[in-house]
Amino acid sequence: MLLEHNIKTAREICFMKLGIVGLPNVGKSTLFNAITNAGAESANYPFCTIDPNVGMVAVPDARLDKLAEIYEPDKKTPAVIEFVDIAGLVKGASQGAGLGNKFLANIRETDAIVHVVRCFDDENIMHVVADAGTNVPVDPVGDIEAIDMELIMADLDMVQRRVDKAQKAAKGDKKFLHEADVFKALAEHLDAGKSARTFDCSDDDKALIATSDLLTLKPVIYAANMDEDGFANQKDNEYLKKVQTLAAAEGSEVLPICAKLEQDIAELEGEEKQMFLDELGIAESGLDRLIKCSYSLLGLISFLTYGKDECRAWTIRKGTKAPQAAGKIHSDIERGFIRAEVIAYDDMIKYGSVNAAKEKGQLRSEGKDYVVQDGDMIYFRFNV
Ligand code: GDP
Repeated sequence: MLLEHNIKTAREICFMKLGIVGLPNVGKSTLFNAITNAGAESANYPFCTIDPNVGMVAVPDARLDKLAEIYEPDKKTPAVIEFVDIAGLVKGASQGAGLGNKFLANIRETDAIVHVVRCFDDENIMHVVADAGTNVPVDPVGDIEAIDMELIMADLDMVQRRVDKAQKAAKGDKKFLHEADVFKALAEHLDAGKSARTFDCSDDDKALIATSDLLTLKPVIYAANMDEDGFANQKDNEYLKKVQTLAAAEGSEVLPICAKLEQDIAELEGEEKQMFLDELGIAESGLDRLIKCSYSLLGLISFLTYGKDECRAWTIRKGTKAPQAAGKIHSDIERGFIRAEVIAYDDMIKYGSVNAAKEKGQLRSEGKDYVVQDGDMIYFRFNV
């Protein structure tokens, strides 16, 4: 019973789920291991280690740290991101029964894709494109296209089924004709080897397409995995430049990273970690950059709850209204929502404490139409 409850909570909380994909030997596992090592802090989530391919990571938030300093709560609970290591995607996966399909199904459950691309030379590590394992020269753009093609083919299959369904429905009701046309045009686009995210159409049609849960509609972050030298001299890295050009053309993000270095960084904490980063001349670990990048890509923000028992950060989408934000905490609070008592974190800092901010009239009472802002410190009043 308890486990069931925990898993449900996990699903509710971890709505941000990132799938790590890429060809074999590009550094996915290295990155995943670094991420999950660094994520040890999320021990407040007991459900985190059920599946070895799933890792939970605490979202770094200086505001939460500050609140915990002030309140010295029994529990400090950061927002979390779930990472899934989706290994085994190779050329032919979309055709392959069994495993190939399973990988694609795993990707379908994610909010965004972290596509790891090999941007390092190492003759000891084979560059694998197809299952057969032939060693070919490192080619980041070719690699991206190989993975994309599998996702596009899987989408094409799905879109064709949607066309059939809409055409059948149109026999009974003409309003489905438009849907059939839109998906037919999309099928042609995919068939030409282009991803759904580059399909040009009206906003209404985009919304219609968004109902179909396509793999190539998911936001992508290309993690350009370089060796130490490449990472240290990024502006001279030709592989990285190629990935950046490709990403710019489709409006995706690029995260320059050195997975091997991340592994070393992940083993350190606190001051030691900071010293190591200073030595390397980098401001933040790749993991922290990856988290920030995903937040902005997915339009996510955090609000905070605070008190002696727990200080906690919660992830929501930009534009979420107060009752739905409350629903993140518990469905009862959403159902019985009365009002939200809100102090902006920056105001609290400006006046020195919650009480001082209250005295200055900075505590706002907000109703059900209030759109929660990043860094809002909220106390929900509710009645069920
Ligand atoms: P995966 O198949 O994509 O999960 O790849 P792995 O993470 O297992 O990495 C494949 C091999 O490449 C391993 O031997 C890693 O140590 C190595 N590797 C990963 N990142 C780097 C890197 O930045 N530089 C070098 N030289 N090797 C790397």
